[in-house]
Amino acid sequence: MMDYEAAADLLDFIEKSPTAFQAVEEVRQRLLWEGFTELSEKERWELRRGGNYFVTRNHSALIAFSIPEADIYQFHIIASHSDSPTFKIKENPEMLVENAYVKLNVEKYGGMLLAPWFDRPLSVAGRVIVRENGTLKEKLVCVDRDLLVIPNLAIHMNREVNSGYSYNIQKDLLPLYGGVEAKDSFFGLIAKAAGVNQEDILGHDLFLYNRDKGSVWGAQSEFVSAPRLDDLQCAFASLCGFLNGQRKESIAVYCVLDNEEVGSSTKQGAASTFLKDTLLRLNGSLGRSYEEYLMTLAGSFMISADNAHAMHPNYVEKADPVNRPVINQGIVIKYNANQKYCTDGVSAAYFKQLCEKAEAPYQTFVNRSDVAGGSTLGNISNTQAAMNTVDIGLPQLSMHSAFETAGVKDTWYLLKAAEEFYC
Ligand code: ZN
Repeated sequence: MMDYEAAADLLDFIEKSPTAFQAVEEVRQRLLWEGFTELSEKERWELRRGGNYFVTRNHSALIAFSIPEADIYQFHIIASHSDSPTFKIKENPEMLVENAYVKLNVEKYGGMLLAPWFDRPLSVAGRVIVRENGTLKEKLVCVDRDLLVIPNLAIHMNREVNSGYSYNIQKDLLPLYGGVEAKDSFFGLIAKAAGVNQEDILGHDLFLYNRDKGSVWGAQSEFVSAPRLDDLQCAFASLCGFLNGQRKESIAVYCVLDNEEVGSSTKQGAASTFLKDTLLRLNGSLGRSYEEYLMTLAGSFMISADNAHAMHPNYVEKADPVNRPVINQGIVIKYNANQKYCTDGVSAAYFKQLCEKAEAPYQTFVNRSDVAGGSTLGNISNTQAAMNTVDIGLPQLSMHSAFETAGVKDTWYLLKAAEEFYC
C-alpha cells in the first residue's frame, strides 16, 4: 500500500462510518477478517500467548490487542476516538410546520461549526434497540440515501447575514424531512432501514450525517477532504499500522474510544474504566499479579492520537509564532504547559525517535499563549491507566466542520509510525 491507496482506503472507511457505531463495526469487521477473536465483557476470558483479540463496549468503543509469545511486561497503546460533532435526533422528533412541512427536532452533539451543515444532503444513522423474543436487541441502522436538508434563509430575508450571524440551534438548525404527507412516517422509515418492526423499537441513538463523499484534490492531489476526518483519520491510520505491525516486542493495544467530543466521561469514553478493565483482565489471564500489572504500566507507552490544527492559509496569525504545523509535513506532536496535552520532554523524545525509525516526519503544535485550546484523550485516559503518554495528531484544516481537510501523505506517515510502534 502507498499513500494514495491509503487515502482511498481512508475515504472508504469514513464512508462506511457515518456514526461511532458504524465506525466500530467497520473496525470489528476488519479485525475479524484478520483472524482476531471477539471477546465479550460479560464472559470469562481465557487468553493464550500468540493470540489476537478484541472487545467492544456499547458498540461504540473498541479495544484490540495481541499477546506476544515471549513474556513481555509492556503495553504499546494507540488511542483515538470514534465520535464526531453532529446532531442527535430528539425523542418525538417530527414537527409539523403550518400543515405544510415536516421537520425534525435535533440537538447538538459536541461543538461544531454550524454553517457547513446548511444546504447539503444529510441523512440519519446510528442504532435502534428493539424487542425481540422477550429480550432487547441492538440493531445498527443507516438510511443510505439523501433524506434531509437544513435550508438556509435567503440573503433577501436577512441582508446582514454576511456580517456575522448568531445561530440558534433550536430555531435555525432543524432539518427539513418532508411535505405534510410525511407526517408520522419517520420511525417507519428507520424501522425499514433497520429491518425491524416499528412497534418493536423501544430506544434509539440516531444522528445526522453528511452525505458528501470524500475527495482527494489539489494541484498534486495532495489534500484529502471528507466528513469526520477528526478523528477517523487517526483511527484508520493506527488500525492499519496495528494490523501491519509484527506485534511481538510489546503487548500491542489498539483503542478507539467514544464520546471524546462531549468530554469522554461515559462508560465507553476515555475517562471510563474500559481500558483499565481490559488491561487488568489481559494481565490476569496471563497468570500475573496486580503488582505485575503495575510493573507493566510503568514500562508502557501510550500514543493519544487525535487530529491537530494545521496553519490556516487565510489565518496564519492564529498559529503560534514558531510551532506551525503544515499539511503533509508530518505527524504533529502536541504540547501544552497545563497538560491538556500530556506530551512531556520524555514522551516527546521517545516519539521523535520512533518517527525517525519509521522515516515519518514530525512537527510540533502549541497553542498561541493567548488562546485556550481544546483537550483530548491522553490526559483523561491517564487518570484510569497512567503511563508515559504523548499527544499527537495529523494536521488538518476546518476542524469540526461538516467537511474537513487534511493531507494524503500524513495518513501514510502515521500508518508507518504506528507499524513501527507495534513492532
Ligand atoms: Zn478529535
